[in-house]
Amino acid sequence: MRTPTCRACRAALRHTFVDLGMSPLSNSYVPRDRAGDGEKFYPLHAYVCDSCFLVQLEEFETPAQIFSDYAYFSSFSTGWLRHAEAYAAAMIRRFALGPQHRVVEIASNDGYLLQYFVARGIPVLGVEPAANVAAEARKRGVPTEVTFFGAESARKLYDAGGGADLMAANNVLAHVPDIIDFVTGFRIMLKREGVGTFEFPHLLKLIAENQFDTIYHEHFSYLSLGVVRQILERCGLRVFDVEMLPTHGGSLRVYFCHADAGHVLAPSVAGVLANETAAQLDELAGYGGFAGKVVEIKCRALEFLVRAHDDGATVCAYGAAAKGNTFLNYCGIGPEFVRMVADRSPHKQGTLLPGSRIPVVSPEAMLAAKPDYVLILPWNLKDEIAEQMSAVRAWGGRFVTAIPHLSVT
Ligand SMILES: [Zn+2]
Repeated sequence: MRTPTCRACRAALRHTFVDLGMSPLSNSYVPRDRAGDGEKFYPLHAYVCDSCFLVQLEEFETPAQIFSDYAYFSSFSTGWLRHAEAYAAAMIRRFALGPQHRVVEIASNDGYLLQYFVARGIPVLGVEPAANVAAEARKRGVPTEVTFFGAESARKLYDAGGGADLMAANNVLAHVPDIIDFVTGFRIMLKREGVGTFEFPHLLKLIAENQFDTIYHEHFSYLSLGVVRQILERCGLRVFDVEMLPTHGGSLRVYFCHADAGHVLAPSVAGVLANETAAQLDELAGYGGFAGKVVEIKCRALEFLVRAHDDGATVCAYGAAAKGNTFLNYCGIGPEFVRMVADRSPHKQGTLLPGSRIPVVSPEAMLAAKPDYVLILPWNLKDEIAEQMSAVRAWGGRFVTAIPHLSVT
């Protein structure tokens, strides 16, 4: 059997972080007329590298198969749009960005973020691998190149339009198969004093709050500041600031620049690194207890669903996202336990969830079923969703989240 190797440092991967069994690709929603067709399942096995401590999945699918046409449009979450708008305002203020500057976003999706720079008259470029999503961005006035980003495409983009004063990649670093090549692209495109920002879910939070459902095939790497700092340094870049964000259950926003640029090192960098050291993320011991906590969550969730079933209660779910698919497939939950899952995205409605084959419906259709329990799959958006779905309270319906531990409110 082939031994997988670390995507950052190439060391052999010998240590399991957590093995979630076999699962289909999280974003491969099944059209209802293909309900009888088979699906391809892949191992969902996360390793930790004992050399650089990058937590990662082995790569089974080529990125083109995963990302070329996937049904994710950022703009469907109002909370995420507010986050994007606040990011744009903060960057414009902090780095005094204006019409003479240029902002580039990698994995720019439907232009959800860059639209706020466009509105302020700042030139932008979006880079997005999914052609159907890029077309949506152009419709809203965000110039977008359809390509995978890496050193080679960075050189082409630089030659065509020059460098970037600000370059963002929000929730993409973790999805990049060749992380060194991707970060090298930033070094190529950033101007001398240009600033790059990465946002990614913080591995420290994933471990502390049992967020195993953020592990799915499209999400190759699970990142700490310590690991990202090492990768940036290997690519001639350096971290100069970091912020802790509440998004996705606890994320980091890392600010970086060329190794010899003038940006002053903020004290927050040492602060976050100290938290990671305290959690032993720089040694194997920090990763050892996670798998057992995951089994515990599965047991409590199934216990709840079996009891609801025996009581004749109706359970529906909200949020047809990758997280939910990992959770449902790992726990072995199908329509016998969760009758339907509501999602606001019309691109997902009318399909079946991969693996579990639970039908995806509109929020209105779910409300019409008057569920006794609504299992909120994207627990990070729990408050926003409970507010949107507050109509279920009218018949005594309750909201359930399974992570970090089972909660019924
Ligand atoms: Zn490594």
